[in-house]
Amino acid sequence: MELVPTQDEVLALLRETGALQNGHFECLNGLHTDINLETALAMRYHRSAKTLSVGLSRKLRANSELRALIPELSIVSATPAGLPVAYGLCEALRAGQVYWAEKDGRDVPMRFRQFLEPVAGEKVVLVDDLLRSGMLLTEARQLLEARGAQVMALAVLVYQPTPQTRGFGSLPLYYLAKLDATYYADAGSCEFCRRHVPLHQVGMARHVQEHEELVTASPL
Ligand SMILES: [Zn+2]
Repeated sequence: MELVPTQDEVLALLRETGALQNGHFECLNGLHTDINLETALAMRYHRSAKTLSVGLSRKLRANSELRALIPELSIVSATPAGLPVAYGLCEALRAGQVYWAEKDGRDVPMRFRQFLEPVAGEKVVLVDDLLRSGMLLTEARQLLEARGAQVMALAVLVYQPTPQTRGFGSLPLYYLAKLDATYYADAGSCEFCRRHVPLHQVGMARHVQEHEELVTASPL
């Protein structure tokens, strides 16, 4: 595998580790979909984690403005799920520091750990495992910028756009693979249900939150 794995190599690695599954899945909020992606299954193997984070770091390094900032860069994960990516990137880049934001519930503001604050002018690469709706990445960016930090780029393992994925303006976005999933609003409209394909329940709170917004924003 090359230092920057291709899209096909990344998807193959995600499949081999069980992180990427094709099938018939129902999220906790009732949406049906043909793809389930749980990056933790790939990141549990150190070798896979290293392949992915080194590959992503190479993409960031190719940006000369970012490359010049590396020693002082902060790698900030928008969610705890992005932490393996954040630490892998920090190690590969030899960046200054890593920390993360957390959110205890849908209606609770995102926050950093107690006593941890970005400093004014701090340069940040904002990281997560996935960019799906972009809701949590947007909230993390706002939290950082409200405290005077400067978000220089976004970096995720997989970009899985939805009809409601938020734009990030001119902010550079780096990812290793782009994945197009199909969503059905419910069993009634689901092509797989109609064909009686066995259904698997999947999803965790974070994903539900993003999908809820997808449904609320525009009925499928
Ligand atoms: Zn279905």
